[in-house]
Amino acid sequence: MENKRWLSSFHRREKLLKFADSDFDLLIIGGGITGAGIALDAAVRGLKTLLIEKADFASGTSSKSTKLIHGGLRYLKQFDIALVREVGKERAIVHQLAPHLVVPEKMLLPIIKGGTFGKWSTSLGLKVYDFVADVAYADKRVMLDKKATLKKEPLLPGERVLGAGLYAEYRTDDARLTTEVLKTAVKRGAEVINYCSAESFVYKDGKVIGCNCIDELTGEGLTVRAKQVVSATGPWVDELRGKDKSLKGKHLLLTKGVHIVVPKSRLPIRQSIYFDVEDGRMIFAIPRANIVYIGTTDTVYEEKQESVSTSQKDVDYLLSAVNDMFPDVELKQEDIVSNWAGLRPLIFEPGKSASEISRRDELFESPSGLISIAGGKLTGYRIMAKKAVDLVVKKLDQLEGRTFEECITDQILLSGSSFSSREAIEEYRQAIRQKLKGKNIPSFYSDYLVSNYGTQTNIILDKMESLPADDSQILLTLAELWYCIQFEGVCKVTDFYIRRTGRLYFYKETIKPTLRAVLSAMKGYFSWTDEEEIAEHESMREALFLSTEFL
Ligand code: FAD
Repeated sequence: MENKRWLSSFHRREKLLKFADSDFDLLIIGGGITGAGIALDAAVRGLKTLLIEKADFASGTSSKSTKLIHGGLRYLKQFDIALVREVGKERAIVHQLAPHLVVPEKMLLPIIKGGTFGKWSTSLGLKVYDFVADVAYADKRVMLDKKATLKKEPLLPGERVLGAGLYAEYRTDDARLTTEVLKTAVKRGAEVINYCSAESFVYKDGKVIGCNCIDELTGEGLTVRAKQVVSATGPWVDELRGKDKSLKGKHLLLTKGVHIVVPKSRLPIRQSIYFDVEDGRMIFAIPRANIVYIGTTDTVYEEKQESVSTSQKDVDYLLSAVNDMFPDVELKQEDIVSNWAGLRPLIFEPGKSASEISRRDELFESPSGLISIAGGKLTGYRIMAKKAVDLVVKKLDQLEGRTFEECITDQILLSGSSFSSREAIEEYRQAIRQKLKGKNIPSFYSDYLVSNYGTQTNIILDKMESLPADDSQILLTLAELWYCIQFEGVCKVTDFYIRRTGRLYFYKETIKPTLRAVLSAMKGYFSWTDEEEIAEHESMREALFLSTEFL
């Protein structure tokens, strides 16, 4: 029988009323990758679970990363072998769980005169990396001499390059990964809602038993109750610990990381590159579709979490780094077509600079019983979730003598991921390409749809048949919009264009021709007033403006 549990934005009010009327085993605050992972793990183990997110899913750090599922070569430099081992092995698991969304990506690490890594240290480092992270034979590192390096990447500076290491990583889309984990959690029984913020905690006998929340779309208040509460609020973890009056001892240090996006024609690199910056840091340049994104910066951030943005200084730093490594390119600010800025919720370590601080995760348990989880990586979300849920079930066992299953999320395919092999993904992509050809839709949409939605692309193409529109690109976009509202919790126009589809970053040219039709369809779906439609239009205009304006 078809599983009718969907992450739908329709019937939102009924859902909220139901939540206020229920007692949950677990309330998760925060709908980034960490909260999503916890929701899936908890639901699969049989906990009655509710996740609330104050804005859109993945709108915090989980849509602003470098979008790599990686073993973290930089941690080897910090001699954090345990972390390299943990995330290194995890990469392969996350790839298995969503093979269309977490795709193998070869990374070129050029060895530069006076650079971070020398020939021997790179060779040894990558070998240790392969060993520690248990990398499959076919993906093990290959060392290239100068000639082979320049053949692979002619844009590198010939006079400074000594050679390169070529090693294996995985590329993903962080916001889509978060969405698919959440959808899978919902299918497994979790309740999940966005635009619902936790304002204050509710206590009984000094123990936290729920939250007073606000529905951010209507301003209405509601109270939700749960036996255990986990804050997976990333950069906001200390804010919630403050509300719980338990912000003592270890605390967060937020560092800002910026990425800029340029057309591939302006930086025509042939594969992903991880390269040296003059100040001793290293940054990535990663091709995707018709663009290349470059990042990241790493600077201490002390402003409001909600207003993180890209500054002129961030842009200058990244442009200068690229122009130093690819001197013939002469990239200019006018070449930038988009950008994003995010915050790393790191655990503060006295005396260490932003780049030196460990990316390890940490669990805090307050006297009220509030569990907070912060730090960590996108890559390790499943392991972080396991640690949090292990603690929750231990506490439920102590309180009520209830026992739950062990974590099995390493075996649960994410929605849209039922592919048996890389060849199967390619075959599916070809079939979609043929279908689109028949509908006069540009062929790049087949890659776009399959990497975003996997096998769920069929639902979108089927929906196209029932929608009225003359222009086939608009028709496809409207079918996609309906899918994202019905199955992926889209409430606002920016949810659609930024996080579900990544169009603002990677396919910006598709926004203007479709925006009016999307706004009008959303107005119909959500019964918006004219003023609400104008406000949504304005929010998208602002997002487009900020994609190329720097403060
Ligand atoms: P978030 O994604 O920030 O989620 C927390 C959520 O809590 C937010 O959506 C927020 O709105 C919500 N929230 C806050 N307060 C409330 C409230 N009161 N009520 C309800 N909801 C609330 N990791 C990798 O593995 N690979 C990479 O390539 C990589 N690159 C990175 C590059 C940069 C520049 C940065 C900044 C990080 C990178 N990371 C990477 C790390 C990774 O992105 C983060 O570890 C991860 O996204 C953190 O997810 P989270 O769910 O803990 O936090």
